Amino acid sequence: MTTSEQLFEKAKTLIPGGVNSPVRAFRAVGGSPIFIKSAKGPYLFDEDGRQYIELINSWGPMILGHAFEPVEKAVRDAIQHSFSFGAPTRKEVEMAELITAMVPSVEKVRMVNSGTEATMAAIRVARGFTGRDKLIKFEGCYHGHGDSFLIAAGSGAMTMGIPDSPGVTKATAADTLTAPYNDLAAVETLLDNNHNQVAAIILEPVVGNMGCVLPEPGFLQGIRDLCDKHGVVLIFDEVMTGFRLAKGGAQERFGITPDLTTMGKIIGGGMPVGAYGGRADIMNLVAPAGPVYQAGTLSGNPIAMSAGLAMLHHLNEHPEVYTRLEEIGKTLTDGFRAGLQKAGLSYTINHIGSMFTLFMTERSVTNFTEAKSCDIPQFGRYFHAMLERGIYLAPSQFESLFLSVALTDDLVAQIIQANEESLISMMKDK
Ligand SMILES: *Cc1c(COP(=O)(O)O)cnc(C)c1O
Repeated sequence: MTTSEQLFEKAKTLIPGGVNSPVRAFRAVGGSPIFIKSAKGPYLFDEDGRQYIELINSWGPMILGHAFEPVEKAVRDAIQHSFSFGAPTRKEVEMAELITAMVPSVEKVRMVNSGTEATMAAIRVARGFTGRDKLIKFEGCYHGHGDSFLIAAGSGAMTMGIPDSPGVTKATAADTLTAPYNDLAAVETLLDNNHNQVAAIILEPVVGNMGCVLPEPGFLQGIRDLCDKHGVVLIFDEVMTGFRLAKGGAQERFGITPDLTTMGKIIGGGMPVGAYGGRADIMNLVAPAGPVYQAGTLSGNPIAMSAGLAMLHHLNEHPEVYTRLEEIGKTLTDGFRAGLQKAGLSYTINHIGSMFTLFMTERSVTNFTEAKSCDIPQFGRYFHAMLERGIYLAPSQFESLFLSVALTDDLVAQIIQANEESLISMMKDK
């Protein structure tokens, strides 16, 4: 038994399923999860003395590579001044100033501790603002584990085969309406059938949580127009895409302005941070400015703010980061396509900037139903073939991969080579 296997055996006796977040358990790909000891730049190091090239990057935050020096230094400096005050600090003001500068649709912002908190608060504010109860989400989009969102919730829930979680009340589920992603007509029907009852439409402007799925041309604009027509608050959940697809997120890249935006992952530089913000007239409803209650003992935590600020400052001041990410993304996906061709496979690759997914299906993937057509056992074989070659992928078909600027041209070439070998070996093992 490896040390990772030993740790996992023990973990299972102490932690539900042995992990603190379900996808980590490797259930969707088989085998035993790898326990990570440390990471630096593009590499992960496990408890068994092995080294991997990283393509998850903590599900996004490590866009500059692990333990990026300016972020590390900011945390070291901050730690000397104690770790939490539960009182306002200068850094929170600087953080709000930087976020509103980078994401102009965000006029006011509130810091929280996770993406889940951000989305839960955002819909509460949207409900307070409109005086309506219902919300529309899209099948396969994930917005954290809040009750209202655990309806057709993508990756984690899908990987685990729990489309609707027990424990979510019927009343809560009844207020969440769902439509297929990229299906404007379905949204229009929902709005017509629930006239003056829908508070918000929430979506990932580019989906990462059923694998990477792009909005079709006109989809985001169409949603914006429907929200305007029906007086609905448009929430872009940019927990994954924020500060990744552009410094102003997917909204900058696609030129569509939401009313509210939820953020997480990159915004904390690897620390537990989330944020929600948007139009001042809506955000002014949040307590203590207004009556919609939302609070957090550790919100705006000084250590977390220091890490996030260092990260965002770097991204704001180094546009070449995004140029480089585009370059790496293009080279990698071109290389992956060539690998598919050599293996005689015509699987689908969805890609934008530094996010992409190789779907084990020959059909195009524009929504959840199409994503589900993938050959899951095939993905499991591919995943383990890549792992054996030292490439650490997301342990589920229904996830996007996330690139970092720590990937050098040499490493990109290594990943392309490993992909080709893995595809060929996966076909042999079948
Ligand atoms: C990760 C994610 C969340 C949840 O964030 P947590 O910090 O895990 O609570 C919400 N929305 C999207 C789009 C995400 O990718």
